[in-house]
Amino acid sequence: MLEKIEKLSNDIKNMQKEINLVEKEMLEILNEMKIDDEVLNYIYWETDLSLKQLSQISNIGQAKLYQHIQDKNVTIICPKCQVKWIEKVSSRNELKKKKKVRPCQKCGGLI
Ligand SMILES: [Zn+2]
Repeated sequence: MLEKIEKLSNDIKNMQKEINLVEKEMLEILNEMKIDDEVLNYIYWETDLSLKQLSQISNIGQAKLYQHIQDKNVTIICPKCQVKWIEKVSSRNELKKKKKVRPCQKCGGLI
């Protein structure tokens, strides 16, 4: 049993190393890019880079980043009745909250 845990633990460490390498490569590319608001919004909404990293590559102070971030429309689909609707979110935290289990507006089934 412990051997299995040791193996899995090593697998996780190796994957983490790989993730760090890919993230480093992404940051290198972003450092060479001109970070306009479109790119900034893309990185904010579509990647897991931290606000600190976003601040570094864009040269915008962390406190001012939100002045550049635009609301995002998220399409929610109920797995039970398939109804779709769009909700607007203005931050990653709000998006996380929206993704928590809650009842569908139409059928009451859990999303
Ligand atoms: Zn539903």
